[in-house]
Order: sequence, then C-alpha cells, then structure tokens
Amino acid sequence: MQSPPSLWWSQIESTSPRHSLRGDVDVDVAIVGGGYTGLWTARELLRRDPHLRVCVLESQICGFGASGRNGGWVSALFPAPAASVIERYGLDSYTRQRLLLQEAVATLGNAAREEDIECDFVQGGTLSFARSPLQEVRARDYVADNADHGVDEEDLRWIEPAELKKFAWLDGARGAVYSPHCARIQPARLVRGLANAIEHRGATIYENTPVTKILRGNSSRRAQAMTLHGTVRADYVVRATEGFTPTMPGQRRNVVPLYSLMIATSPLPEAWWAQYGFDTFPTFSDERHLLVYGQRTADNRLAFGGRGSPYHFGSTVEPRYDANTAVFSQLSSSLRELFPTLDLDVTHRWGGPLAMPRSKFPFVTVDHDSGMASAGGYTGDGVTLSYVCANALADLIVTPGVPTPHSSLPFVHSHVQRWEVEPLRWLGINAGIALATWADHHETIHGRTSRASALLTRLMGA
Ligand SMILES: Cc1cc2nc3c(=O)[nH]c(=O)nc-3n(C[C@H](O)[C@H](O)[C@H](O)COP(=O)(O)OP(=O)(O)OC[C@H]3O[C@@H](n4cnc5c(N)ncnc54)[C@H](O)[C@@H]3O)c2cc1C
Repeated sequence: MQSPPSLWWSQIESTSPRHSLRGDVDVDVAIVGGGYTGLWTARELLRRDPHLRVCVLESQICGFGASGRNGGWVSALFPAPAASVIERYGLDSYTRQRLLLQEAVATLGNAAREEDIECDFVQGGTLSFARSPLQEVRARDYVADNADHGVDEEDLRWIEPAELKKFAWLDGARGAVYSPHCARIQPARLVRGLANAIEHRGATIYENTPVTKILRGNSSRRAQAMTLHGTVRADYVVRATEGFTPTMPGQRRNVVPLYSLMIATSPLPEAWWAQYGFDTFPTFSDERHLLVYGQRTADNRLAFGGRGSPYHFGSTVEPRYDANTAVFSQLSSSLRELFPTLDLDVTHRWGGPLAMPRSKFPFVTVDHDSGMASAGGYTGDGVTLSYVCANALADLIVTPGVPTPHSSLPFVHSHVQRWEVEPLRWLGINAGIALATWADHHETIHGRTSRASALLTRLMGA
C-alpha cells in the first residue's frame, strides 16, 4: 500500500526524481537521508567550506519522510522535559539550550529566505489552550514551573480569555499558554526548496538510492555508504534517517518509529475564520495528554494532527502504517469539538514515522576515527531541532575541536541509550499510548484527574 499523499505534497509543483547512483563515488561527506537533517547538514557544511564534496543519498525522493509530511510547527520545543534537562546538565546548560532553540526559530526562517525558499513561514507564536478546569491547572502549573527555571513572561505566559479572544479562540477555552517562539510553515516546500538550494551550492543528490549498509572507516579504509548500484567512499558518512533508522542494519533498538497522523480541511471562508481569529497564524494545541497540533494554513485550511497510532512490533516501518482509520476519525471528532461550527470537509489524510529515543534526548554524534556521524531522535520536535543539529554536525566536521554554541549544546555527543528488546518495547510503548488515551477520556467524563494521568507523569516525566 502506498502512503496517502499529504496536503503539503499535493501543493508541490515538481516531484520528479533526480538521478540515482550508478557506480562508485568519492566525496568528503556522504549524507544518508534527504530530509531536513540531511539537507540542512549539506547546506551548513557548504556554507562553512564551499569546496567540500558533499552528496546526499535518498532512498525515495527528498522530502519523502517526516520532513515532507509534518505539522509545520517551527517551534522551540525540546522533547525531554525541562526538569530532566536540568537534572542531567544543570540550569545554565538548560538555559543556554533554551535560548539557542528560541533564536533558531527566526534564524531558520531567515535561512529559508536566504535560499529563496517560499515556505509560508510566519512567526505567530504558539498557543496551548486549556479547555477544562484540570487543563487550566496543568497549564498554569507549566507556566509557573517554567518561571522557576528562569523563563521570562516574554517567552512564555498564561493568557486570560478576554485577551485571548482578541486573537485566537477555541470552543470552551478558559485561557491558554502562549509562547512567541514558533512559526508555521508549509513543510514540503521547505524540504523541496532545501534540496534545490544545496544543489546550487554544489552538492549532488542521488534519489531512489537506498543505502543498504554503512561501513565504518579505519586507519586504512575510508567510511562507506553502500547501495545496490555503487558505493560512496567518504571521510564522513552522516546517517540522517530518523523514523526509518530501525530499518537499517544494526539500528533496530536505537530509536523507535512512532506514527503521527494528520488531516486537512478544504479552505475555510474568511467569515468562518472571523469567529475564531488566528489572523496572525499561531499554531495551536490543547492541554490533553495525547498530543494534538494544528495550524491555519496559508490557504486558510485547518491542518490538524495527533498521536494515538499504535507502535508496531519489532520497530517495523511500512507505508500502510501511514494511515489509520480510527485515528483519522478521532482527529475529525477532536476538530469538531474544538470548532463546533466547522462544516467538516476533510480533503487530505496522511501520516508518517518520527523517531523517539529511549532517553527522550536527541543525539548528534561525530566519530572522527571511524567517520561515522548521525543526528536525530527529535520525537515530534524535529523541524527546528534538525536545523540546530545540522549546525552542530557541520561545526564538528568542519572545525573539529573548536567549541561553538551548537557543538557545545548539552545533548551533543550524549550516549544513545538502546531500547528494550521485544516484547517489552511493544508492551511499554503501547501501554503509554493507552494510558494517555484513558487519562483524557477519564478527565472528559469525570472532570477529575485519573490514576492513569499520575502514572503517565511518573513514566514519561511530563
Ligand atoms: C505527521 C508528522 C507531524 C509532525 N509535526 C511536526 C511539527 O509540527 N513540528 C516539528 O518540529 N516536528 C514535527 N514532526 C517531526 C519532524 O517532521 C521530523 O522530526 C523531521 O522532519 C525529521 O527530519 P529528518 O530529516 O531527520 O527525517 P526524515 O524527514 O524522516 O528524513 C529521513 C529520510 O531518510 C530517507 N531514508 C531512510 N532510509 C534510508 C536509506 N536506507 N537510504 C537512503 N535514504 C533513506 C527517507 O526516505 C527520508 O527521506 C512531525 C512528524 C510527523 C510524521
């Protein structure tokens, strides 16, 4: 079964594939995976040293993965909770990381503009609505915890209904948490534009070229990325395969593929939007346990997504998992609940795999002896993080041993913790998804926190 086309992909003018690798090639850096991580890495390498020979090997076409299908939130979010980051690295490192991520939102937008990429970038911030007394308590606690960690009001604050109504409204909102550090984009335009941009800078892209094996280099042999029709030898091979990583030899337990699914409506009339606002295009979510996320698109649709798809035994990744009727219908009901006057006409349904590491911390690794490098494990926050991690990779490769703001981020070079063997992985992850679903259901019916919620907080740390 083929993946269902996303709204974003249906708006892309040219998706004809580039040529594939035929024969052996020598380069300085070979990048496996043509999503944001791989393409930003190529761009940042060539910006630092335009003479580098860089190639990207993509199994399908650039943007085929999560980068061409996501919710289009360019956020400053980090997948591990602030308390875990502080516990691991201390408050100063946490603050340095938070400020760099906040700045990265606008920097990414500027980088896209420098490359002439039209991706509907608008930095309208992000809102997490509280729609019940319990959600309000959670939201206010979140703001208070952040203030305790040194986060200023300008970076995160609670908005009362009277102020909220002036710019964005959802049915039943009791207020919202607002952060200005988020932009909305048309994600496929960004990834397809990036592919063109790195070619202009001199990189070569091979599409329809799956890498079957990556070989470590040593003192007598360079690192290699092997494909069915040729091998690329390089000083560095960068693995940038995110949700698809478990399909590569030896990588099954490094991250788990989790599926996030989305729907999009037909364009909605201005008169309808007038009831709800969103004129400055803030992205939105609410304070339920099982994540949902949305944006008002440039052509006035609602694009809305969420988790809830099951984890598949053995970390398998298959195109048929990109669709799930039950999750699509749950997303439709959630949209109706948030916007009761919506005459729901869903035109697109799609999904894709993202990668969750065991520790919840993303990773950036560069080993100068073997030439092995990688970045990923962003869970659902990879739009900005991939850009940040690509900068760290480029710094580590081009100026090894010279600390930079990106290469000194606390999670860079952190140990990649492996996931449990099956069936523990399957049981644990699906139990987590079931707990989150149950906790939301219980709160809606009974109006009080369930034991599932407390257990989930203990298990997930947030
Ligand atoms: C539905 C959905 C919604 C999301 N929403 C958001 C959001 O709003 N904000 C946010 O920050 N994050 C979001 N994410 C996560 C974000 O999209 C990803 O973290 C980010 O795109 C990862 O980029 P990447 O380049 O690392 O991986 P990908 O974009 O997945 O790219 C990996 C590439 O590697 C290729 N590949 C795989 N195996 C091989 C091989 N053997 N040889 C060669 N190539 C290979 C794949 O074809 C793919 O193109 C979402 C994800 C999904 C699925």
